[in-house]
Amino acid sequence: MKSWETIGIVGGGQLGRMLTLAALPLGFRVVVVNPQPNSPAAQAGAEEIIADLYDQAALRQLAERADYVTIEIEHLDAETLNSLAKLGKSINPAPKTIALIQDKYLQKQFLQKAGVPVAPFKEITSPASAEKTLKEFKGKMLIKTRHGAYDGRGNMVVKSKADIKKAFALFADRDLYAEAFVPFTKELATMVARSFSGQVVAYPIVQTIHERNICVEVLAPAPITEKERREARRVALKVAQLLEGAGTFGIEMFLTADGKVLVNEIAPRVHNSGHYTMEANRTSQFEQHIRAIAGLPLGDTSMVVPAAVMINILGERDGPTQLNGLHKVLDIPHTSVHIYGKSPTKVDRKMGHITATGQTINQARKRARLARQQLSI
Ligand code: AMP
Repeated sequence: MKSWETIGIVGGGQLGRMLTLAALPLGFRVVVVNPQPNSPAAQAGAEEIIADLYDQAALRQLAERADYVTIEIEHLDAETLNSLAKLGKSINPAPKTIALIQDKYLQKQFLQKAGVPVAPFKEITSPASAEKTLKEFKGKMLIKTRHGAYDGRGNMVVKSKADIKKAFALFADRDLYAEAFVPFTKELATMVARSFSGQVVAYPIVQTIHERNICVEVLAPAPITEKERREARRVALKVAQLLEGAGTFGIEMFLTADGKVLVNEIAPRVHNSGHYTMEANRTSQFEQHIRAIAGLPLGDTSMVVPAAVMINILGERDGPTQLNGLHKVLDIPHTSVHIYGKSPTKVDRKMGHITATGQTINQARKRARLARQQLSI
């Protein structure tokens, strides 16, 4: 490999930042497209093209400057990426895969057709069709937007005609679909990576804990039975075989009381549920993604510690970012802090994360929770 090959990333947020931090030691340069200057990725050493993620000229410029183009967010102009891929540019994951995942309804249809277990779902075009679907789904379902949903914005649990009315008002002018409510016992996730040649590797199955539809905590490995773990792994690997293009993918799943695993959704990129791999695994998800999209051999996904717990640092107020408590946190053993360099802070904005490792999940969780209590931003 010649030195100074360039990785181009569409998006320069925290995922772009952590991808940059993984790419630089391997001898890559990084350039990102980001709407605002001084992005989290640029602060870590990436060059920037300041433009909207739907700006065709900026994406073309990125493809000209980069040897390998990838993404850190799926809400972008997949069509332009596709036309660049047709010109022979190395764009991964495949723009076709990104486009499929952008539309959650098409994504679900695709998974169902391929025999991947998913919750029952249906297109809804009017409050009347939603009421009919609510009866079919036994009185409890979610109305979800097909496009552009992020961190829980874009779904609503509905149980009545009044709820349906609220959802249609909230999601006015958006394409919607409905999904039966899954009474899951746990939410699970895993990262899988695919190489240029179609080699697939999987990370451990983790448990994700959500509040207000946002991931707040990740337990690695998930405290589930071996049988449940095997089933989640089987389902995740099945999904991985279906996706086109190289890269790392996040697969979110539901575990039910009778041990069934249903896929909730796929992220065609590195994912919040894989941040723990930076401290806890031989190859982090970020390095793995760089390896995958640059045609390098995939790395060992195994954990180097018995347990890890990641806690997101979500903004608790609106205002200028002010980090306090780092001294106390860094006194806690086996605990790492990642601050993303975002300002201002906003309620529920992802400002950073903490990963603690330990001999057991409980030990790691105690450390991570103590650290989170000590920190404010
Ligand atoms: P999503 O909008 O698909 O990203 O889902 C965000 C969160 O909403 C998930 O992590 C679950 O906690 C919850 N959720 C989504 N779909 C369902 C479902 N079909 N049944 C129950 N909870 C769900």
